[in-house]
Amino acid sequence: MIKPEHVHVIGGGLVGALTSIFLAKRGFEVSLFERRGDMRKLAVEAGRSINLAVTARGLKALDEVGLKRDVLDLAITMKGRMVHDMAGNTTFVSYGQKENEVIYSVSRGELNKLLLTKAGEYSNVHLRFDQRCVEHDLESNQISFTDEVSKQTHNVQAKVALATDGAWSVARQAMLANVKNFNYAQNFESYGYKELVIPAAAGGAFQLEKEALHIWPRQSFMLIALPNLDGSFTCTLFLAYEGAVSFAALKTATDVNAFFAREFAGALALMPTLAEDFFRNPTGALTTIRCAPWHVDDKLLLLGDAAHAIVPFFGQGMNCGFEDCSTLGVLLDAESDWRSLFQKLEAERKPNADAIGTLALENFVEMRDTVADAKFQLKKRIGFELEKRYPDRFIPRYSMVVFHAEIPYADAYQRGIEQEVILDALAAGIADISKIDWSHAERLMQHARPF
Ligand code: FAD
Repeated sequence: MIKPEHVHVIGGGLVGALTSIFLAKRGFEVSLFERRGDMRKLAVEAGRSINLAVTARGLKALDEVGLKRDVLDLAITMKGRMVHDMAGNTTFVSYGQKENEVIYSVSRGELNKLLLTKAGEYSNVHLRFDQRCVEHDLESNQISFTDEVSKQTHNVQAKVALATDGAWSVARQAMLANVKNFNYAQNFESYGYKELVIPAAAGGAFQLEKEALHIWPRQSFMLIALPNLDGSFTCTLFLAYEGAVSFAALKTATDVNAFFAREFAGALALMPTLAEDFFRNPTGALTTIRCAPWHVDDKLLLLGDAAHAIVPFFGQGMNCGFEDCSTLGVLLDAESDWRSLFQKLEAERKPNADAIGTLALENFVEMRDTVADAKFQLKKRIGFELEKRYPDRFIPRYSMVVFHAEIPYADAYQRGIEQEVILDALAAGIADISKIDWSHAERLMQHARPF
């Protein structure tokens, strides 16, 4: 077990706040520095709640520090995808087949506030807001912060620093500039995203089915919507930056309304402030960042998006970051020095972060395209049936990633490839699950590895 001492955590987002709780519970003195002001005291603009999906891996980490119930109290259950076709018809595609195989929509802001509050309840956690990290000297582990209110810069001497300052981490940039043979890859997609809103109806009623993640898949682009506790839905439009159908082509309110009338007519009817939101809200970029190493000696470790930013199509970026926290907790108890903790954490987490990064990219194709495809839906049904008949040999890929925290992402990725071969073989030449040759399935499953 590592002897409790002072740890500096940089970045008080989702992963930084949870990291602080894991440390505080074990008696470490934690100084948490966050660039923004204290979000618990700042007013949030009405109708601007942004949500994300919390799944088994994130919930496992939260449970380890006693916060699972608190988070579920803020969440709305989503049992599956509600697919909206061009004609306005809807098809519900269940995420899992057991009652507990659901995911949860939670407000990003409320979750972050809860984690900051819970961290701040420990007397050994010191929350420092308005502190922008501007430089990290890797040699001395001296960190410079600019106070966003006074604009003064001051230095802090760290012995151990954990950088949880997100995809544009200052510590990681220092590693890129100074660590010999540092591996770094950053890939931007050619499409971005924009957050929009479907407000609640009068009296706070939901205007779409509440317990679902809604998708309007349109092959090269898509709209999704996740429910909020106040009856609204946060919508996200994923669309190319350039081209005939793109953000660049939507120049006026008339363009935006015409585009939605053509592609998402059902949603448009529920979006009274569409054009206003569209031009007010920024277009976000989608990036995958991979790097190695994640640590410098026994001084500095990257965690969360700082180490591994991924695209959002599996809803796993935060869940993966929370899983980093779980591993940190295990290693804080098992290791006796920081160097070996950092090495072991990276050895365990990096292959898994790489795997979910790849899975997330692939899932965009599934969400925008194949989810509306009859063959996709047939294969989904076959996958569920195989899981029922061979529960120790087949778990659908989506289920492995989202419901089975005990299966590492890297294993889910590899098994997903092997299972796809089986699904393709069984779905070939048929349009309905009743036509499956189950003796063929039996032969194929005999070769499948048991879990
Ligand atoms: P961040 O959330 O980026 O937090 C970093 C923190 O550090 C922030 O508070 C920031 O203010 C602070 N900071 C930054 N720079 C500095 C600095 N220089 N000095 C001091 N502080 C600094 N994940 C899911 O699991 N499920 C989802 O459904 C999901 N949906 C998503 C949808 C979209 C559109 C996007 C873009 C992402 C989504 N993600 C989702 C991913 C998820 O948002 C991230 O993986 C997660 O926020 C990472 O947490 P983090 O704490 O590592 O980084």
